[in-house]
Amino acid sequence: MIKTVNLTKSFGDKEVLKGINEEVKDGEVVVVIGPSGSGKSTFLRCLNLLETPTSGDIIFSDITITQPKADIDAIRTKMGMVFQSFNLFPHLTVLENITIGPMEINKKSAAEAKTIAMDLLESMGLADKALVYPKSLSGGQQQRIAIARALAMEPSMMLFDEPTSALDPEMVGEVLQVMKKLALNGMTMIVVTHEMGFAREVGDRVIFMDDGVVVEKGTPEEIFDNPQNERTQNFLSKVL
Ligand code: ADP
Ligand code: MG
Repeated sequence: MIKTVNLTKSFGDKEVLKGINEEVKDGEVVVVIGPSGSGKSTFLRCLNLLETPTSGDIIFSDITITQPKADIDAIRTKMGMVFQSFNLFPHLTVLENITIGPMEINKKSAAEAKTIAMDLLESMGLADKALVYPKSLSGGQQQRIAIARALAMEPSMMLFDEPTSALDPEMVGEVLQVMKKLALNGMTMIVVTHEMGFAREVGDRVIFMDDGVVVEKGTPEEIFDNPQNERTQNFLSKVL
């Protein structure tokens, strides 16, 4: 599905990604963990070209998207992204938040877009919120709407950057539940999170990043129960 080859990213003279070689297969759920500042967000943002890589290549669905002629807008619609801050449009209803992308970018009719949106809201238990504005919703509800909005674009993979970090603790579960369901339905996902329970339960693989490199990777059991690298051990001793 997606592969990076010697991916680097520098901001000024600071090299934030120092040569990442990773591959995520169709239907795989990969969880990225690591300390703050290790480059996790930059990695995700490079994948959908929100940041321009300094060097290296990204191959997505057999297309080298880092080549100059790549159609960045078309590629981005195929990669849904969900951030820590939900970024819903405050002046649009929940339904309008979800239908605007499919209508404006995917050229769906209003009726088609509404059907897609209502199906998604239904699956998230939020159908009764279609006509309200985001500010009347809890953080957990808003984040689920943000996920629905990304899914309405019919992406072939989803990138999550700490989707539950800004939520009150009691709302974390409902968002993780939606993500778990998505994973079980076969969505390819890369998830940056500090939710180690989710990583263990839902992740097919875990990648530990530190200081711009992938220090260690493996199955959740390998990483959590038997980490080999001292930096992984040290990080896990603080978060588990
Ligand atoms: P993480 O998500 O693991 O916390 P980030 O990818 O956000 O890490 O950041 C990695 C490093 O890159 C940090 O030192 C951060 O300050 C730096 N960085 C991120 N974005 C920018 C930017 N736009 N300009 C300059 N430095 C940045
Ligand atoms: Mg980050």
